[in-house]
Amino acid sequence: MTADMLLCPICAEPLMVRLARGRKSGKPFVMLRCARDGRHYRGFINHRPYVLALVEKLEAQDRPEPESKS
Ligand SMILES: [Zn+2]
Repeated sequence: MTADMLLCPICAEPLMVRLARGRKSGKPFVMLRCARDGRHYRGFINHRPYVLALVEKLEAQDRPEPESKS
């Protein structure tokens, strides 16, 4: 997994990797965005194995939105 090593082609800042979810499909996808300015670069990855691997990786780390199911 080398997503966090991608650099913005404009300012060479590392791209932010965020997980998003399709409004219609509800399927998760990966959004890459320049951390400095979203107008520089914004991209989406829908490749299922990559997205699912990233979901698992994020869930294995800390969870950004703690759900109250115990
Ligand atoms: Zn940039």
